[in-house]
Amino acid sequence: AAIHRADYRPPEWLVPDVELDFDLAAERTRVGARLTVQRNGDHDAPLRLDGEGLKLIEVKVDGKPAEHLHAQDALTIPIVGDEAVVETLVEIAPGANTQLMGLYESGGILCTQCEAEGFRRITFFPDRPDVLSRYRVRMHADKILYPILLANGDPVAHGDEEGGRHWAEWTDPFPKPCYLFALVAGDLVANQDSFITRSGRTVALGIWVREGDIGKTGHAMESLKAAMAWDERVYGREYDLAMFNIVAVADFNFGAMENKGLNIFNSRYVLADPDTATDADYDAVAGVVAHEYFHNWSGNRVTCRDWFQLSLKEGFTVFRDQQFSADLGSAAVKRIDDVRALRAAQFPEDAGPLAHPVRPDSYIEISNFYTATVYNKGAELIRMMHSLLGAEKFRAGTDLYFDRHDGTAATCEDFAKALEDASGIDLARFRRWYSQAGTPRVRASLTHHAGEGRARLVLEQTVPATPGQPRKAPVPIPLKIALFDELTGQKYTDRLVLLEEKRQDLLFEGIGGRPILSINRDFSAPVIIETDRKVDDLAFLSARDDNPFARYEAMQQLMLETLVTAVSTGSADHKPVIEAIRQTLTNPAMDPAFIAESVLLPTEAFVGDHMLVVDPDAIHAAREKLRSDIGDELESQWRAAYASSSANRFEYSPAAKGARRLRTVALGYLMAADAEGAPAMALMQFENADNMTDRQGALGNLVNSDTTERQTALGAFYERYQENPLVLDKWFTVQALSMREDTVDKVAALARHPDFLLANPNRVRSLVGAFTANQRAFHHRSGRGYRFLGDMILTIDPLNPQTAARLIPALGRWRRFDETRGQMMKAELERIIATPNLSRDAFEQATKSLG
Ligand code: ZN
Repeated sequence: AAIHRADYRPPEWLVPDVELDFDLAAERTRVGARLTVQRNGDHDAPLRLDGEGLKLIEVKVDGKPAEHLHAQDALTIPIVGDEAVVETLVEIAPGANTQLMGLYESGGILCTQCEAEGFRRITFFPDRPDVLSRYRVRMHADKILYPILLANGDPVAHGDEEGGRHWAEWTDPFPKPCYLFALVAGDLVANQDSFITRSGRTVALGIWVREGDIGKTGHAMESLKAAMAWDERVYGREYDLAMFNIVAVADFNFGAMENKGLNIFNSRYVLADPDTATDADYDAVAGVVAHEYFHNWSGNRVTCRDWFQLSLKEGFTVFRDQQFSADLGSAAVKRIDDVRALRAAQFPEDAGPLAHPVRPDSYIEISNFYTATVYNKGAELIRMMHSLLGAEKFRAGTDLYFDRHDGTAATCEDFAKALEDASGIDLARFRRWYSQAGTPRVRASLTHHAGEGRARLVLEQTVPATPGQPRKAPVPIPLKIALFDELTGQKYTDRLVLLEEKRQDLLFEGIGGRPILSINRDFSAPVIIETDRKVDDLAFLSARDDNPFARYEAMQQLMLETLVTAVSTGSADHKPVIEAIRQTLTNPAMDPAFIAESVLLPTEAFVGDHMLVVDPDAIHAAREKLRSDIGDELESQWRAAYASSSANRFEYSPAAKGARRLRTVALGYLMAADAEGAPAMALMQFENADNMTDRQGALGNLVNSDTTERQTALGAFYERYQENPLVLDKWFTVQALSMREDTVDKVAALARHPDFLLANPNRVRSLVGAFTANQRAFHHRSGRGYRFLGDMILTIDPLNPQTAARLIPALGRWRRFDETRGQMMKAELERIIATPNLSRDAFEQATKSLG
């Protein structure tokens, strides 16, 4: 059942033109399709169209009823000449579509999700990204239920019909693969605005939501306009249609979708106002709006030849949205966030049974490959090429890429080739990054010969074995490196070193005093660095490195080493960490947003990733002990930080965001130390907040405690927001992330709460997804967490396989735990695999996770 990259063949038939006619209704929709088909190449194969769950009513070729075979998700039609007009009529039931792929209903709105293979659930078609067509789409629907009818491209005509119905027609002049098809029908209102492109064309912008949500669309609109201007300025990319629409829906499997001219979004990445969205939500809205908009070039104008090339559009577009967000806010804090996400999601993936290259070699179900590796490691590969070429040559490379491949379906190789051709820089070896899975490790040892004023740095790399890839070749690793004089703090050198071989020696002259190594600054490569730097060196760097990311990193390393020592030996000296935090906290030159990020301890899961056998309880205990010592020893500093960052009226600015962040972090340390009056402070923050960041920050701290304030706040939050699904998600999440001993049982109880909706992916992720990220609770020694997850996966799979399958990798970490836990996790995987009628999605994830 696996599909292999090596088996790629060009399509046998092309479909230059498509006309679709939708007779829309939730319970029954009729889809008429008129395809102009052209034989591609010298062969006599029949036309083969994909189709899944379609009720076929008729098939015509050149206007006449035609011979055909309808079997196994395909319609085969013999065609005599090299061109024909093929018409099909099918019936589907959007209201019964719980998979949320194809045409489905969400809160009374009819909408589509076609990437990767949802279009075949709408009509018969060669559902592959290298078949590009021009679309003309006509929709008919009830005028009251569905007053707004949207599709890709530009509207051309509309009118009324009898029976209280109406119709609208849209055309999209740009040939596109069917995964970019979209339509929306619903009772929607728009925030309308416009953007004038640099060549002077006016683009009508619309953000479509349910009436009550219109007041929450301002931030998305500002973000969209900023993204349009940024792409013109930084990549020279201009928008190409007269209209750009975004629609928000409540039921959505992923974040959002870049359908040509008609982006469809999970409402959580559109709706934001101070009362309901945190600063992190605001940032995510801006990032996702930009991401989907940027796909108009990196994804739509140039698309993917096949799904193995997914990172061509996703890795590149994630890199673009990261650059955009860095430009808009604090670049250092953005880099910290991105690296944190990479380490939390991608490093474990790369180290486990589901490890795969950025350009995979095979898959069973493509939906399972929308991974942190394809997206986030993919973005890191683009970032490395950006630093190898430099901004200017990189831009020349992307210009050439867009120019050369506009209107076509391209490969990752095409991208690398364009960068190479435009820059003259050889990327032959760099391509290994696309084909080899596993996170490379770099061992760096620095020795100093004071007498000769010389330092020597030995760098050695290994790329670990991963499933199906036992032996690896070295990859080119760009490492930003600096050396500092231990006493004076003077910087000896600061440069980009390219580690290409397995081992490389570097000599530095003129190094009189003992040098301290700062390496992988800005996280210039997605690798794990091993050094033998002493505690004092890390403390030095955390205070004095001039690269903010490197300062953060040194602090993290110091904390991590302290925690790993505490877990493995039962105790550790907390002083160095406390002193390093004191330095950072009291440094007036540092930005509060940066301070807040760097004084946070690594997560329990991250500590676990650095142990041979993860001991969740010991990690939790050690981390809590360190947290309370930090809170205790620095109590007056935390109180001062809390007071100085105290709220004025809400404002969404980098400074105000930084202040809010630091405030909640300070509160967390005071709570951890059981400081006098801390729960009351938290409750006061909760009650007086004029924004969700402060309110959720307070609740997130209280929820770990055993206080009456905890109950008060949880109850009040529910009362206030029970009608708002996105905020109610937070109420579930905050409890799923609680560090209390009883969380596993609380979560199981919440799954029986009337507001826990299995059909809504956001709600499932808010409780179950968040729970699996809570290492201590999920890995509760009783095994109740595993059992709960197994039950959830098996309950959700028949409704929504993609959402179910995404919960499975948490069980795939069984090798990392003790025998007892490992066996219990495996037992859940085996139970899943043994379940009749399991989806292909869940089957692939569970069998691969079992190994
Ligand atoms: Zn994307």
